[in-house]
Amino acid sequence: MAKVIFGSWDGKVIDNRNRQIFEIEEHPEFSDFDEFNAGNPIKAFFGGHGFFIFEKNVNLLDALLQYMERVAKESCGKCTPCRVGTQIIKRKLQALVDRTGRPEDLDEIEIIAKHVKDTSLCGLGQTATVAILEMLGSFREALVAELATPAPLAQHCRTYLSAPCIEACPSKVDVPKYIDYIKDGKFTHSLGVILQKYPMAATCGRVCVRFCEMACRRTQVDEAVGIKVLKRFVADHEQGVINEWFSTYKPAEPKDKNLKIAVVGTGPAGIAAAYHLLLKGYRVDIFESKPVPGGMAATGIPEYRLPKEVLGKEISIIETLGGRILYNQKLGRDLVLNDLVEKGYNAVFLGIGAHKGKMMRVAEEDPEIEGYDFGVDFLLRINHDYIDRGMPMELGEKMVVVGGGNVAMDCARSALRMNVKEVHLVYRRSQKEMPADHEEIEAAMKEGVIFHFLTNPTRILVADGKVRGVELNKMALGEPDEGGRCSVTPIAESEFVLEADHVIPAIGQQVELGFVDPKDGVELESWGTIKVNPSSLMTTRNGVFAGGDCVTGPATLVQAMAQGEKAAQSIDDYLTLGRVRFQPRDRMSQLVADVQPMISTGISIPVKHEYRVKIKELDPMIRKELFEEVEKPISVDEAYAEAQRCMRCYRVYSVITEQ
Ligand SMILES: Cc1cc2nc3c(=O)[nH]c(=O)nc-3n(C[C@H](O)[C@H](O)[C@H](O)COP(=O)(O)OP(=O)(O)OC[C@H]3O[C@@H](n4cnc5c(N)ncnc54)[C@H](O)[C@@H]3O)c2cc1C
Repeated sequence: MAKVIFGSWDGKVIDNRNRQIFEIEEHPEFSDFDEFNAGNPIKAFFGGHGFFIFEKNVNLLDALLQYMERVAKESCGKCTPCRVGTQIIKRKLQALVDRTGRPEDLDEIEIIAKHVKDTSLCGLGQTATVAILEMLGSFREALVAELATPAPLAQHCRTYLSAPCIEACPSKVDVPKYIDYIKDGKFTHSLGVILQKYPMAATCGRVCVRFCEMACRRTQVDEAVGIKVLKRFVADHEQGVINEWFSTYKPAEPKDKNLKIAVVGTGPAGIAAAYHLLLKGYRVDIFESKPVPGGMAATGIPEYRLPKEVLGKEISIIETLGGRILYNQKLGRDLVLNDLVEKGYNAVFLGIGAHKGKMMRVAEEDPEIEGYDFGVDFLLRINHDYIDRGMPMELGEKMVVVGGGNVAMDCARSALRMNVKEVHLVYRRSQKEMPADHEEIEAAMKEGVIFHFLTNPTRILVADGKVRGVELNKMALGEPDEGGRCSVTPIAESEFVLEADHVIPAIGQQVELGFVDPKDGVELESWGTIKVNPSSLMTTRNGVFAGGDCVTGPATLVQAMAQGEKAAQSIDDYLTLGRVRFQPRDRMSQLVADVQPMISTGISIPVKHEYRVKIKELDPMIRKELFEEVEKPISVDEAYAEAQRCMRCYRVYSVITEQ
């Protein structure tokens, strides 16, 4: 474990300079700080809250200079203290490193750094000089000593620009940047920032689970910035330019034009992998078992949250870029992995999702009974048979949906739209523990879904091969476990029956394993997902990569797209270098995550309270009978106002290593 020789973070000073290394206490936050990559020790770490020095021979002035060079480069220039102040500090540090400066320059640097911190308008300027100020405040004599006797310059500095919202996003979308472009009225540029990461901007702008908003520092002032709605705004606004853009797009020159890649599955993971491989200039064929593309975004997520037209347009980018989608081609049924290798594919990406519904393991449960449907199968039938083909569906008058996640909410809300008169949602814990998005829970409640918390099914009542009802037990919450999750136990003699014509277990999905043949060499984890090397996403078979729900288990759109992008990068490395390269950005991101627990919360600068834009919705009493999109777009004025709420919490981090 790396030990801090000295440092200061959020005003907390650590000074072990007069102690032997074995006397220095260990901090668990630095357990991963020994090496940056193999054989390359981390000597120091700098960030927007301070710095830590792990080795005695760090050239502090050079480390500060390199940090400030990056800050000055990233300054947007809109406010003078940051634009000019960071440049002056940089020049003065350069002079000190070159030994043409004077010791008094340290005093001037301190005055300017304080001014930059106190008067800059955004998070970058407000944190840009914290490390330098903490060093000058608590360790000035170390800098003065270095002026007299410079430390060796043999050190390497890597800098990294990020923000809490970027770090929280699995795809690492540069959120403040696309919001900045909205502030400037440059909507095409804004969309361009998102498209660097994935093609499904309008889709994500509608259904993303918003890890970014949960991390948004604006919550410490009033409410998180409407990051998702702003993404939808630019994607919808600029929709017309997308296909034109991609039809004239010149992909990178691949190392070898004959290299071709097979992607299996057109869900978010497969689409993102194909997109990045096409942008890199590879030939890509996508094999899809269904007659429609989009994976769960098309067959699971209901039309009232994500219109198929929106998704379809974004998937068509793949074909505009030259990718081929081959439908009704199921791996394990119509082809096997070895066929792909024999057909000359140089690498394969598996993005086959997790589609197999899980049984509840209650008495009389049998998927063959009439009126029993797994949640994902039920939604697939609505999307595919009812909406796409206009086929009628007999669902009866009363339905019981079991589960507390988004799939359960989608089933319940869709059932209302299919004219089921009474929809009961049964969940074994309390509302607080429900994993579903709180907006989805509220929407379902407003539309009239009847919730039964702390309730669990014990038996399905069946007569003449048909569902007639569900027997349920009331549950009691126990003590929370180490992870904070409460156990639940049935309450004796609390059984009751809900009459129903239909029961929908929506308690999770598994990977359908029919595609694996032991001869393929693709191994599975004991819990049934595809085994991969987490850094490269390569499976246990050379040249075969996997990502998305089939690796993580049921997760989210943005996680699947992030893995698709990562796999595309690994495939490119594998085909061009024969090995997967170390990714410094991922490593920096890990280090930033490690220091998060040490960052104090609270906004120390005055910020005017401005609550976030209210999204207009169809009236619950009207919308519950329609599959029409519930959320309405925001106006240009609303988008400008919402974008202004972003505090642009950019932070520069740097790491000093030997090489
Ligand atoms: C009802 C529902 C609602 C959801 N709501 C949200 C939400 O609001 N926000 C969010 O972020 N996430 C949501 N999710 C989760 C999200 O949709 C998934 O995490 C995401 O789609 C996973 O992407 P994927 O590409 O890994 O897999 P999938 O989307 O499942 O795509 C896999 C693709 O592979 C194809 N395939 C499968 N097996 C084979 C085979 N053997 N051969 C060829 N092709 C094959 C499938 O037909 C499919 O097209 C929801 C999921 C469901 C089910």
